[in-house]
Amino acid sequence: MKSYQSGSDIAVIGAGAAGSLTATRLLQHADRHRLRLDVWLIDPARENGRGPAYGTDDARHLLNVPAARMTAFAEDPDHFVHWLADRHPQHADHDAFVPRVLYGRYLAHVLDDTARRSAGARLHRVQARAIGTAHHDDSTLSFLLSSGRTLRVDAAVLALGNFAADCRWAPETLRTSHRFVASPWSPDALCAVPPGADVLLVGTGLTMADMTLSLQRPGRTVIAVSRSGLLPQPHASEPLPQSPPPVVAGPPGLDAFRRTVLTHLSRSRRAHGDWRPGFDSLRPLTTDLWRRLPPADRTRFLKEHLRLWEVHRHRMPPPTAAAVRQARELGQLRIVSGHLTDAAVTGEGVRVRLSTGTTLDVGAVVNCTGSRSDVGSLDDPFLHSLFKTGLARPHATGLGLGATRDGRLLSAPGRGDVRAPLWALGSLLRGELLETTAIPEIRVQADGIAASAVALLKRDEHPQRHRGLFASP
Ligand SMILES: Cc1cc2nc3c(=O)[nH]c(=O)nc-3n(C[C@H](O)[C@H](O)[C@H](O)COP(=O)(O)OP(=O)(O)OC[C@H]3O[C@@H](n4cnc5c(N)ncnc54)[C@H](O)[C@@H]3O)c2cc1C
Repeated sequence: MKSYQSGSDIAVIGAGAAGSLTATRLLQHADRHRLRLDVWLIDPARENGRGPAYGTDDARHLLNVPAARMTAFAEDPDHFVHWLADRHPQHADHDAFVPRVLYGRYLAHVLDDTARRSAGARLHRVQARAIGTAHHDDSTLSFLLSSGRTLRVDAAVLALGNFAADCRWAPETLRTSHRFVASPWSPDALCAVPPGADVLLVGTGLTMADMTLSLQRPGRTVIAVSRSGLLPQPHASEPLPQSPPPVVAGPPGLDAFRRTVLTHLSRSRRAHGDWRPGFDSLRPLTTDLWRRLPPADRTRFLKEHLRLWEVHRHRMPPPTAAAVRQARELGQLRIVSGHLTDAAVTGEGVRVRLSTGTTLDVGAVVNCTGSRSDVGSLDDPFLHSLFKTGLARPHATGLGLGATRDGRLLSAPGRGDVRAPLWALGSLLRGELLETTAIPEIRVQADGIAASAVALLKRDEHPQRHRGLFASP
């Protein structure tokens, strides 16, 4: 019979992809190390593993990574494809870009299945939002929940994910109007769009592509505007060969970084007739390249190069790219480089003026500007509370939280080297890692954080059990 150490409690705040994968890995590591662990998974959402990315039930919204690279477990590369083969065999193809709704179901299944099999670790799902940190000392962390209860634990992982898109660019008359779709990934968000009316999408990235597919119909023109007017590049329609990564040497500045990348992409074009294998081979090196940059060069990269980087890095699945191309050819989608300068809400819709001098009459304006990571300026009570109690601080770049490379949060400046047993993953690590928002990175982070947390909890015994969910005093 197995013998288990006395118990510990850990909170995972956020039950999107990152939180669900972290909870899964915590259960596995705790079992492997015979640690009796209570995992508290906190999220106002009803279901696990969804979040804005995998919460859509529009089957035209596809994963932007082929199925072969979307496994939950890096050590079992075929896990997702096998899951598809069992349940959705028509999608069980390593190179397919499958509907995102299926991926949300997969992640929820992986967590449920792990929790069911777990011998000594237990999963508690709490449907609430963390709204504050109540109190912490050397051995516990306490979180206030929107339900009015307090959760006291030995350690915690923040998996807060994609924060709502910025709306500050929209004039107040538009922002406060029912014709403005602030968060296109909210359930039923597009119900605000009058049938048949033209629509303005602000942003020309992957969200714009998905919204175009959802809104496209005969007689409607969708206009998409962004300052750069750049669209995400398409994935190649056929799988491409793998390319070896470049050798990184020389000085660590942005100019050297650019030279390394451009030379490597030219080599890839010469060798494979395509820049994509070269770009993909940069992926394991990106964090190192990023961390080598002096702070001023990081700021310059974010200002001058990030958009170009992202349109090559986060590409459109071929079916989406084909549908977008066709919509443009049919005149159902127009892309404009510019920005919105004025908007007036009328009885019939919105009259919008663009920086190009064009005036448009549309039925609705949809915010496709993508999620925010500038945590210091977000109006989020939980983040404010983390900063106020000194448990966390914004990253020096302004993106995400200050953290070590493996996700352990740095406390507020002036508090010495105090590091609470608190980790973050996913987009909260953007400033530190740059490449951190997609599943291939998140699954590795989830595993690493779970291993570190279990090792820490196993080291420190918790004989006095005053942990768990309490009514707030
Ligand atoms: C539209 C879209 C499509 C994408 N497609 C892909 C793809 O095909 N492949 C890929 O690899 N990546 C894709 N991504 C990247 C995506 O960000 C990640 O794959 C993944 O969804 C991120 O998961 P997450 O858990 O970090 O964030 P989220 O999915 O945003 O989940 C965060 C969760 O935290 C909860 N939360 C936030 N604050 C609190 C709080 N205070 N208390 C409690 N809960 C809280 C939220 O309710 C939410 O459920 C896509 C992203 C988007 C936006």
